[in-house]
Amino acid sequence: TSTRELLLSRIRDVADYPKPGVVFKDITPLLADPKAFTALTDALAELCAKHGATKIVGLEARGFILAAPVAVRAGVGFIPVRKAGKLPGATLSQAYELEYGSAEIEVHAEDLDQDDRVLVIDDVLATGGTAEASLELVRRAGAEVVGVAVLMELGFLGGRARLEPALRGAPLEAL
Ligand code: IMP
Repeated sequence: TSTRELLLSRIRDVADYPKPGVVFKDITPLLADPKAFTALTDALAELCAKHGATKIVGLEARGFILAAPVAVRAGVGFIPVRKAGKLPGATLSQAYELEYGSAEIEVHAEDLDQDDRVLVIDDVLATGGTAEASLELVRRAGAEVVGVAVLMELGFLGGRARLEPALRGAPLEAL
């Protein structure tokens, strides 16, 4: 089987979660399968090398789980982007719109600088709002964005189109 088929086979659809009418993509079966988790880590580490990333930014919370082993495998630093109020040091914050209301994410300002080439990693690209805000944070910290890599893109939500301007030509890779 191809990596793509292996990964797809380990993603579970959960109907009506977190609310009625939503089909949630659950990656816990993939994490529990060492063959699939290793294949995912290897594929993401390859993208890291391909795009010359010197740091990986992981998005809370499932993005952390995927990005941390990739950083170790690729031999680059791991930088967490967290929900507001969780990081103890001096932060940069970015607010963004959700379907209902808004959210805010943060990064430690000293974790990134102009020498860094950053690959952003998350599990799922849905509307693209979270990834878009993270690119804003990375650039405000002075670093260069070399790409966004996700396990899954929910194409019907139009996240790729929303993210497009913020990518400024950098690739969006969906495994
Ligand atoms: P967006 O900002 O609308 O693109 O939402 C992306 C964020 O929501 C990511 O950090 C995902 O972890 C999370 N998310 C949205 N839908 C799903 C899903 O079906 N499964 C797992 N995570 C999801």
